Amino acid sequence: MFTDHGIEHIDSLWDTASVLTDEKFPLNPAEAFVLGGAFLLHDLGMGLASYKDGPESIENDPLFQDMVALNSKPPAGNEAQDPEHARLQATVAVLRWRHAAQAERLLNDPFLSDDGKNIWLLADDGLRAAFGADISSIAQSHWWDVDDLPHKLPVDHGVNADFPGDWEIDPLKLACLLRLADATHIDSRRAPRLLHAFRPQSGVSREHWFFQQRLNRPKLSQGRLLFTSSQSFDEQEARAWWLAHDTLQMIDNELSRVDSLCSDMGKPQFLARGVVGAGTPERLAKYVTARGWKPTDASLRVSRVESVVEKLGGKHLYGKQPWIAVRELIANAADASTALHFASGEPKPAVYVRLYQEAGRYWLEVEDHGIGMTPDSLVGSLTDFGLSGWHSGDSLHESPGLASRGFRARGRFGIGFFSVFMIADRVEVKSLRYLSGSTETTALIFEDGLSSRPLLRDVPPRERLTRNGTIVRARLQHDPLSTEGLFGTDAVQESRSQMLRDMIEQRSVLLDTDLLAAGPEDETDILLVTANEWKTCDARELFRKIYKDQLRSPQLQPMYEAWESVFVEHEQALRDDSGEVVGRAILAAGLESDALADVWWWPSPRAETFVGGLASDTIFDCLGVFEGEPLRADRNSAFPVASEDELRRWASSQAELTSTSRFATAQTRYGAAELARSVGESVPYLPCGYISSGELVASDLADWIANHDEVILIASYELLVFHDETGKVLYLDRTRGRRVELPNNVIVMDFWAHWFFPEEIRPRPKDSRFGEYGALNSNDWNPKHWWYVNGKIGSTALLLEAILESWTCTPQDVAENFHQRRLGRAGDERIKLTCVDDSTKIQIEGYLLSRPVGTA
Ligand code: ADP
Repeated sequence: MFTDHGIEHIDSLWDTASVLTDEKFPLNPAEAFVLGGAFLLHDLGMGLASYKDGPESIENDPLFQDMVALNSKPPAGNEAQDPEHARLQATVAVLRWRHAAQAERLLNDPFLSDDGKNIWLLADDGLRAAFGADISSIAQSHWWDVDDLPHKLPVDHGVNADFPGDWEIDPLKLACLLRLADATHIDSRRAPRLLHAFRPQSGVSREHWFFQQRLNRPKLSQGRLLFTSSQSFDEQEARAWWLAHDTLQMIDNELSRVDSLCSDMGKPQFLARGVVGAGTPERLAKYVTARGWKPTDASLRVSRVESVVEKLGGKHLYGKQPWIAVRELIANAADASTALHFASGEPKPAVYVRLYQEAGRYWLEVEDHGIGMTPDSLVGSLTDFGLSGWHSGDSLHESPGLASRGFRARGRFGIGFFSVFMIADRVEVKSLRYLSGSTETTALIFEDGLSSRPLLRDVPPRERLTRNGTIVRARLQHDPLSTEGLFGTDAVQESRSQMLRDMIEQRSVLLDTDLLAAGPEDETDILLVTANEWKTCDARELFRKIYKDQLRSPQLQPMYEAWESVFVEHEQALRDDSGEVVGRAILAAGLESDALADVWWWPSPRAETFVGGLASDTIFDCLGVFEGEPLRADRNSAFPVASEDELRRWASSQAELTSTSRFATAQTRYGAAELARSVGESVPYLPCGYISSGELVASDLADWIANHDEVILIASYELLVFHDETGKVLYLDRTRGRRVELPNNVIVMDFWAHWFFPEEIRPRPKDSRFGEYGALNSNDWNPKHWWYVNGKIGSTALLLEAILESWTCTPQDVAENFHQRRLGRAGDERIKLTCVDDSTKIQIEGYLLSRPVGTA
């Protein structure tokens, strides 16, 4: 999969090194020997054969396990790869990531021959002792960042007594020469035609080989390297041209950074400081030519990064919701705690939220004792909008084994941190990586929101962290108790400390780490959430945690108290494949109806969905909690993680409970039926509509149809259905409130059935038997379209199946014998219903279904 790293490449490095230097470049025999050794060694680690214990040792590398784990079970929304491919990808990743370090082992550890003797790559003991260490660190250095060279390489030094005294070695000079010779060696010698024809290549590699074949050996031109192409790239080869462009830009960058470094460090300089034409595609096209198309830079670009971050990572994404900023900081802290747990095996440390005043301003602080960040990852992750450190190759590398041991971060989109700028104008992040010493504490300061460049600071001794973890301190723009502030109100209802607890507690119920908080009036941190307690606490306690606010509100309290008893009796857990609890909830459709307390305005019950333990979305007609997956990057919409099978199992046992329990009413039975059917359970013992004698359960539907040659369908939004004290059904006309009689061939049904799943998870099913419904003309009644939309879901789907069975006809027959009865162009065709009091008639829209002629 890689481009040529064979001996021809290594030999050619002497050539490219010669283009970059002239005879004046100081190089003594010892340095030339070390350079040659580094040339030979630098990419040897890319070969499987360099693993002395066999290729299996790659599979034992934690990075390999992490890559396989991530690729085979990626976050929702990304597709899992086939296992063989995932393993191959992981092998390639390990070879690439470890090849530099592997080079060192190759030189300093012997291979074993068949007869058990040591074989050294550098056989001469004296040369190995004198130069082995330099060769291997210079070889490795081609993989480091230029800025790391001075502090990671050995310092200049003399050679041992066996060699002339002036044969001093300058590792930095040699490392620069190696990396430049390697980077600039991209011409056609590296991709000999013959080899190209025989090697399998894929994706980017193929384009790499291709453009390398077209490039001539570089020339020096006024202090820069000039690359030219031997043949033009036509339109089909544009991707390869752009790869050449990007590669030359990389070389340009490398040459200029090495030039600055050598100049700063007083080292000999190279003849080239850049690449001709690298800055602009148009100029490069003069030398690396295109035929029939024009390379202009039309690549995507974001020129005002702060404005994008502000727009897409703040108020415009989340709306004016200060809580989101707190939520995202807690989520990051909880991720870091969980990562520590997976890295060290220690229990998950707690997360702390604090609000306090300092020099007249309010500060919000979120502290964790989790895995922490190195200076690189602190800058890398927190200044890169859209990069989630938990999923990048770099961080896998920093914390090997996390992914393979099962760590799954709740962070995913790499934008959450930036939401803190919705509430704060100054943000200070201090972090200490797990297993690092206190002196390595680093701070990143955002002095002035997003408008100025953040500063990476050393931390003075007394402010250093003594434990691994991270503290994010945010100076709030407004007093939390103000309409613009964190709590969004200036009506002082409670102390700021109490308001802080109220804001966080109920929204963090599902957290898997302990959460403590302290406000300005608190002397110590107060425990708000105990990790995972929601999974095992009793149902009443859980209900009181979830609906704490509602239970305190004077208007809502009686309703939630009534619902609490139902919850306690009906609550059932949902579990994932490993048996872990991922939800505790009840079906609660219809509970708001008058049966419990005769209050007409009670809002529908709703359950809460939590993403990563933090409140995100709600689900109507249920009560309780679900663990959820976010549907969008703002995490304000989510769907339960429970599998469809588990949701179905739970809904069906809930439906059964709802139909028989002491709380059962006509409304709860009807509501439960709708909800259970919306996850695909048929629940035949529950009602699917109302007829003159009252509710009709689904299992009686076919018999009822068989008794009629004409059936009239009325939507439940046309007629109000009530139950009196004795359970008898009353039908009221909606416009004048007249009580009406239903003829015995009329059925009242819900037409727009509830569908539990969001469209992006599982679209509403459509009935493809009616798929070819033709043109949709708003004036014409189109029965096929009606059935296409309603034939596969809810009560109307049950009705259709019952008709097909009872009248033994085809879907085509049903469509042809289905008529709308409304007030329209054709006159007034509405259904006439008789009023109970005085036998006058009222008219209502409906649909007439007739038994097709010639059926039984
Ligand atoms: P996300 O959480 O979706 O990945 P964020 O913008 O919130 O995105 O954070 C970016 C990255 O910063 C995280 O992926 C993580 O690598 C790092 N990070 C943020 N907060 C912490 C923390 N408290 N401890 C360790 N790493 C953190």
